[in-house]
Parts: sequence; C-alpha cells; structure tokens
Amino acid sequence: MSNNIRVRFAPSPTGYLHIGNARTALFNYLFVKKNNGSFILRIEDTDFVRVKKEYEEGIIADIEWLGLDWDEGPDCGGSYGPYRQSERLDIYKDYADRLLKGGKAYKCFCSGDELERKRKELLSKRLPPRYDGRCRNLSREDAANYKQNGIKPSIRFMVEDGTIEFDDMVRGKMTFKGSDMGDFVILRSDGVSAYNFAAVVDDALMKITHVIRGEDHLSNTPRQILLNQAMGFDSPRFAHLSMILGPDKSRLSKRHGAESVAEFREEGYLPEAVINYLSLLGWSNPPHPPFAKGGGGGIGEIMPLPDIIKNFSIERVSKSPAVFDIKKLRWINSAYIRNKDIAELTELSLPFFTKAGVRIETVDRQWLHKVVDAIRGNIETLSEIDKYAGIFFDDNIIHPIPPLAKDGEAVEVLKLLKERVEAEERITEDTADKILSDIKEKINLKGKKLMMPIRIALTGRTDGPELKKIIDVLGKERIIKRIESAQKSIANT
Ligand code: GLU
Repeated sequence: MSNNIRVRFAPSPTGYLHIGNARTALFNYLFVKKNNGSFILRIEDTDFVRVKKEYEEGIIADIEWLGLDWDEGPDCGGSYGPYRQSERLDIYKDYADRLLKGGKAYKCFCSGDELERKRKELLSKRLPPRYDGRCRNLSREDAANYKQNGIKPSIRFMVEDGTIEFDDMVRGKMTFKGSDMGDFVILRSDGVSAYNFAAVVDDALMKITHVIRGEDHLSNTPRQILLNQAMGFDSPRFAHLSMILGPDKSRLSKRHGAESVAEFREEGYLPEAVINYLSLLGWSNPPHPPFAKGGGGGIGEIMPLPDIIKNFSIERVSKSPAVFDIKKLRWINSAYIRNKDIAELTELSLPFFTKAGVRIETVDRQWLHKVVDAIRGNIETLSEIDKYAGIFFDDNIIHPIPPLAKDGEAVEVLKLLKERVEAEERITEDTADKILSDIKEKINLKGKKLMMPIRIALTGRTDGPELKKIIDVLGKERIIKRIESAQKSIANT
C-alpha cells in the first residue's frame, strides 16, 4: 500500500539520458521503493527549440532498460496527468493569471536584447545579473503603448527582500536571500511556462512530497519555495544530490568518454551492473557480503537492486561530489556477467556476436550457451566478446609457430593430447579435465609448460578462456583437426 510518498523523475528531452540523470532517477526510485510510495515520470518538454521526440523515446527506453519502473507517466497515465508539460500549458497560464490578479506577478515588456545588454553590464561590474524590476511599476499608458506596438509581455514573479530557508535532506539547512534573485520570468512572452514555474505547479498538482534532484538545481529551489508560498501550496521536501565528476575532478562530460546510458548499453554493460554502480555514486551502503565469486573490490559493493532498496537511506547520501570510476564499473559489470543466468546472458550477447562477424542465426543455442560460459570469465563488457569469438567460430587458426616449434616438450604434449582425445568417445568438461590431468601425469609437466602448447595449438593465441572449457566447447573432431594443423605447421618450420 502506498503511504502517499510521491516522487518524480522529470527529465527534459533535450538529449539522451546522461549517467548523472540516471543516478537521479535511481535515487528517487530507491527512496520511493524503500518508503512504499509512488514514482512519477514527468516529461519537461517546454523548451521547444531543443526538445526532440527521439530524445523522449530514448530516455524512456533507457529508464525502462535500467528496470526503474514508474507508477504514473505519459505512457501509462495516472490520476494527475497529463504527464508531459507541453500538454499542460493552459494549466500554467491559469496559475500565472492568478498570480497576476493577486498582484504577485506583473507583465514585463523588456526585449531580449535589452535584458541581455543589462545582464552583460552587471556581469562586467561583477554584480549579480539580476533583473532591475523596471516593469514592476509600469504605468497603464506605458503598458498600453507597448501592447499597441505589438510587443508581447512575459510575466515576472515579484521577489521581495527577505530570507528563504529550507532543510535539505542531504545538505542540511540552506539559506538564500530574496534580494540576490531579482524578479524572474514565469511565463515567457510566447505564453509558455518557464521551467521553475511549470515544475512548481506540477509538483503541487501531482502531489509530489519529495524532490530529489541534482545539486545544479539548488539555486532554483528558493524560487520554487517562493512560488509555492505565493500560490498557497505546501513545498515538498528537497534533497540535492552532489555532482558526478570525472577522474580529473571536473564535471563528468563527453570528454571523459561514454556519458549516456545508451552508450553504456551499446558497450555491453548489464543494467544490473549500471544500477549497482550508480547506487554507489554518493551513497554508501552498510556492510553486506559480496556475491561475486573471487570478486575483490570493497566489501558489500556488489548488490542487486532489491538489496540496494532494502539498505538505502537518504541519510547515507553524501554531499561531497562523487567521482566516476570506469574501472570500478567494469569490475562490477564483470561480476554480473559471471553470475548471470547463462541463457539470459546468451540472449544479451547475440548482437555482440553479430558485431564480431558471427552468423548467429546458424548457431545451435545450447552450444552457444557453452561458448558464452567459456568466454564470460575473461570479459568485463559484452563488447569484448569479439576478442574471443574467433576461438570458437574461426577454424582457420594461424599458429604462432615459434613457441611451439622450439620446444620438444610441446611437440610431445600435442601428441599425447591427440591420442587422449581420440580415445574418448565424446568430450565433455569432465573428460577435458581428466585428459589434462592424465597428460600432466604422463609427461610430468605442469602450469604454463603444459597448458601453453595446448592453448596455442587449439586457439592460435596465448591467452583466453579456461582450457578445459575450450576443449569442451570445441569437441572431439575440431580439437583433432586443430592439433593436426598445429603439428603440420611445426613440421613445416
Ligand atoms: N527538467 C529538469 C532537468 O532535467 C528537472 C529538474 C527538477 O528535477 O526539478 O534538469
């Protein structure tokens, strides 16, 4: 049952879902799931110049991919819709009119050029670029004059001197001065609501109880609180999340590599891993045993979503900036790759095999499971499948001859391997193990001396998946063929 806690994720579809915004969506989701409330998706699409439908679709697909399901939104509706701001313009206009009538807002006829000129002037004097209130007390005649000349006014909210305080759930007590702000636009001259105004009206009408968003919105909050007061709405509680920085401590951006969720998906990160990693950006979890086999890393860092929800609390969200560490994300991803159900992982791997040039539709699915299982211990992202796919799909192995030919022992190892494989009716992972230990016993070699000639003969390379898995996946015939071909290469040197 919902306890009336309601949060929203409110992306502007002016670009694809950035990893920082995905973290915002996640923290809203964690907070609301922990508290048994409702998660609302609201599309803030009033910037008609920059908004694109494909961005909206992309953002929705990405949040879905991450598994952050919402209870109300533009696609599924809800009791407080519509959930796309472009469909709510009349509502904003109505509330702006109420503020005008109540004397809390006024029409401003200043032109964009004029405002820009004044802004620059203030900045050059190192003063805050606030509006000077010129149209606050415009005479009726002046207003009529502007109108007659076809000038469309914007509507500005009147900010009075005084302090605005709120208790941020992450940052503690915050204080702002009204005199630093200046009167701000709530309805643009084209009749469309400005961000701050639409967000306040929507948060109130959608009964949002907690606003969890990036620290970059901190300066909007006092404005939003004033608007709430002026319209008689209760302000929600606010929590501002610290920024995510790149390794050079500047704000995470394209320069640091992939930054959109879509790019991470294309590189073969699993949604569980991205979620797990993002949850650690600014939140520290209480101790929890890792599930990853041979995982390494910090205790309790590998945690599936239900456990993150269980352990999450906003009190453990830090106000210091978080540094994005791709190595850690890769490590977490490798843990999820190793632990994923093999049939599911194989499905997810299909596009990556195709990219690696494998005609996947011709491949037996059960056998492919084995291939994926052999490869998964060696990769951190699915796009690395192309490093190893050739071992299983390309029989034209070019053997690096020198390490084999120089070494009499290697020749002997291959001879024994061929005999042992020929003696088996069928190769399985167990027989592969047995074959390797038999050869080891017979020839009295171990470690690299034993394994490397076999690896090179079977795969043409010196690194790769576990040998017994390779032997199992290749099967009797292909192993014999590959040994023979290696033997031929040795004989020809
Ligand atoms: N549309 C705003 C953004 O994408 C949302 C800000 C908010 O959460 O209030 O940054």
